Amino acid sequence: MDCLFCSILEGKIPSNKVYEDERVYAFHDINPQAPVHVLVIPKVHISSADAIGEENSAAVAAVFEAIPKIAKALGLEKGYRIVTNIGEHGCQSVKHLHFHVLGGTQLSETMN
Ligand code: 5GP
Ligand code: ZN
Repeated sequence: MDCLFCSILEGKIPSNKVYEDERVYAFHDINPQAPVHVLVIPKVHISSADAIGEENSAAVAAVFEAIPKIAKALGLEKGYRIVTNIGEHGCQSVKHLHFHVLGGTQLSETMN
């Protein structure tokens, strides 16, 4: 399977790591859309949030347990936004579940 983020997890493609534990990896987005823009991913391949189910939701829980630690380490005490894009209409470009953590400035009120 050819997956960019699995390749990053395997170290085949370099990334700027901000956090790692047994189940979760986080790294700076290559094309940041905010002063802080980190991608948080499960180490298991899940194609998108639309593929979350009983069999893999523990990996997703681990991601959400990691995010507050990552936010704290990045100084996001004033808040931040978590975004996940799904499929064509959601403009998902990498088919490995990832949560964008955006912050470091006042974000816009618009969601789309
Ligand atoms: P999506 O559009 O699928 O929600 O988000 C994919 C994100 O991955 C984009 O924000 C894009 O900038 C980021 N990205 C794509 N390729 C790479 C890469 O090779 N390294 C890093 N660090 N980020 C990447
Ligand atoms: Zn993958």
